[in-house]
Amino acid sequence: MDYQKILNRIENELREFKDAGNVASYIPELCTVEPSKFGVHLITIDNRSYYLGDSDEKFSIQSISKVLSLTLAFMLEDDSLWERVGVEPSGTSFNSLVQLEYEQGIPRNPFINAGALVICDILISRLQNPKQKLLEFARKLSGSSSIDYCIRVSESERQVGYKNAALINLMKSYGNIKNNIETVLDFYFTLCSIEMTCQELAQTFLFLALNGVNPLINERIISVSKSKRINAIMQLCGFYDEAGEFSFKVGLPGKSGIGGGIVAIQPGKYSVAVWSPKLNEKGNSIKGMKVLELLTTKTQSSIF
Ligand code: GLU
Repeated sequence: MDYQKILNRIENELREFKDAGNVASYIPELCTVEPSKFGVHLITIDNRSYYLGDSDEKFSIQSISKVLSLTLAFMLEDDSLWERVGVEPSGTSFNSLVQLEYEQGIPRNPFINAGALVICDILISRLQNPKQKLLEFARKLSGSSSIDYCIRVSESERQVGYKNAALINLMKSYGNIKNNIETVLDFYFTLCSIEMTCQELAQTFLFLALNGVNPLINERIISVSKSKRINAIMQLCGFYDEAGEFSFKVGLPGKSGIGGGIVAIQPGKYSVAVWSPKLNEKGNSIKGMKVLELLTTKTQSSIF
């Protein structure tokens, strides 16, 4: 498959593409990004790379980092994890409080904010220095020592983090948060502030295309079964309240973030990361979704 030719064609087709959305604004620091940024990086399981545009520029990966925290927690916890967080799509927005009260403080899945906060709580209970461990994990998977948190972004989010504070307080009242609320929120905001390039993102998540093995270091990160399960959760819950639409149009497991990034996996073939900061009303990158739709259409391959 000549992926570079296909990516070039997609770039040409999208030259006149009108993405009428907006850059995320509720975290003030995220507004400083140039809305026209656009990058794509695809890595095949035999480590061939194909890319476009600003694929080497770092951006805030935001919720995409929740796949990393889930993977780390799943490495430590086994199936007891699912007693504290579910695996069902939420059908509500990523920071919704309503469902959490009905369901007595057990979040629907690890990718909505409430679920990611529970995962952070688990990592704090299990690890001496979860921030450092998570960073080392991302650097190891990506092979890039320059990956880091962005303090400006985490501080900016902390200052407006009322909804996340409400979510964690509600869960604490149901007994589903074991550690100090401030400590968990601090880890969560820091986790969301990781910056990566499209290249680093695609490389980081390649283990999910290879049944849990990272080809860069030739090391099994998680079992075949756990890799399948993480892909399944991405398929069903990776795109806020738009996972159905993404499945319908793209047909790959993936995860988006409000920084405008999306990572998607074609198991057995490749991992691909896209970045374009303008979001639709659901919080997903408009051009990013379009690129991936065209990619699976033109390669005539999806998981279905
Ligand atoms: N840090 C963001 C929040 O908690 C993550 C949003 C996202 O990318 O979904 O609101």
